Amino acid sequence: MRVLGIETSCDETGVAIYDTEAGLLAEALYSQIDIHAVYGGVVPELASRDHVRKTLPLIHDVLSRAGLEIHDIEGIAYTSGPGLIGALMVGALVGRSLAETLGIPALGVHHMEGHLLAPMLSDEPPTMPFVALLVSGGHTQLIEVQGIGDYTLLGESVDDAAGEAFDKVAKMLYLPYPGGPHVAKKAESGNPDRFDFPRPMVNKPGLNFSFSGLKTYTLTTLQSLGGIHEISEQDVCDIARAFEDAVVDTLIIKCRRALEQTGLKTLVMAGGVSANQRLRASLGPALAPLGASVYYPAPAYCTDNGAMIAYAGAQRLLAGEQDGPLMDLRPRWPLAELRAVSS
Ligand code: ATP
Ligand code: MG
Ligand code: FE
Repeated sequence: MRVLGIETSCDETGVAIYDTEAGLLAEALYSQIDIHAVYGGVVPELASRDHVRKTLPLIHDVLSRAGLEIHDIEGIAYTSGPGLIGALMVGALVGRSLAETLGIPALGVHHMEGHLLAPMLSDEPPTMPFVALLVSGGHTQLIEVQGIGDYTLLGESVDDAAGEAFDKVAKMLYLPYPGGPHVAKKAESGNPDRFDFPRPMVNKPGLNFSFSGLKTYTLTTLQSLGGIHEISEQDVCDIARAFEDAVVDTLIIKCRRALEQTGLKTLVMAGGVSANQRLRASLGPALAPLGASVYYPAPAYCTDNGAMIAYAGAQRLLAGEQDGPLMDLRPRWPLAELRAVSS
C-alpha cells in the first residue's frame, strides 16, 4: 500500500510517500526555524500560516521525486495530535480533502507514535518488544512497546521535557533557537571536569524524570560567574558540557532501570534529542553490560519529518483502520490511549 504522510504538528512541514512493499519512496521537509528564530520560539499563528503555504508544494515535490501521480496514492496519513491545533488543522484538512477527492482512506496519526516507529525505517530495524525512550521538544517518556499501538507508559518527565531544557539553557547562553544542537556544539569544546551538575531524580525509585531543576542549576552557575555578559566563550562551553553530561547521564540511568524492571533486552531511542551525539555514543556502551542492544533513527528521522508519519499511518491503514466522518484533532493526546493494531 502506497501512503502519503503529512506532518504539520509544529514548525516543520514534512511530507513523504511510504510503500509497505517497497519502503520509503520520497520525502521532503521544510523547516520554519528561520521564521521563529527571531522570536526565540515557535509562534503558533505564524506556524499555521506557513504550513498553508508549504504543504501542497511539498506534496507535488514528493510525487514528482517518486515519479508518481496523485492517483497512485492509496492512503493518506496526517498528524492529528499532539501539537499546535492550528498547525495540525492544516495537515488534516489537506490530507482529508485529498483522500475524499481520491476516494481513498485517510487516517489521523499520533505524532509520538511516528517518532517511536521512526527507527523502523532503518536498514536494520529493532524487533518488538522493546523499551522506547522518547526524548523530544515536548516529551521525555519511557514506554514499554509490545507491538504497534500496544504501549505502556513506564515513566515521564514531571516538568520540562529534555529538549525543552536544552532549548531553555540555550536561551540563557544566548544561543540560537532551537537550542539542542547549539548547546551540543558548545559542549564539544567544554571541560567535563569543571562543573558537576546534579543528576535529577536518580536517587528516587521509579522511572520519572525532572529537568526543570537542572535548568535552574545552570542559571545559578551562570550567575555565579557574573552573568551572561561577563562570562567567556570557554565558560559557555564548560556550562554546556556540564548540562549535556547531566542530561545524558540521567537518561542512561533511567533507561538501565527500565530494562531491569521490564526484563527486556532492546532499547529504542527516538525524538529530537536522540540526534544528540553524546547520547548516541554513550547509551550503547552503558547498556551493553545488561546484554541490551540500542537502536535509534538516522539523524534526519530524530526530529520531525513526514516519513515517520507515512510509516506509522501505513501500518494502521494496511490493517484496515481509517478515520470516521468527524475530524478528530487532539492537541493533547496520551500515547498509551492508542489501540494495538490488529494483525
Ligand atoms: P514533540 O515531538 O514532543 O511534540 P517537537 O516535535 O518539537 O516535540 P522534535 O522535533 O522531536 O520535538 O525535537 C526537537 C527538539 O530536539 C528540540 O528541543 C531540540 O533542541 C532538540 N534537539 C535537536 N537536536 C538535538 C541535539 N543534537 N542535542 C540535543 N537536543 C537536540
Ligand atoms: Mg520542530
Ligand atoms: Fe516531534
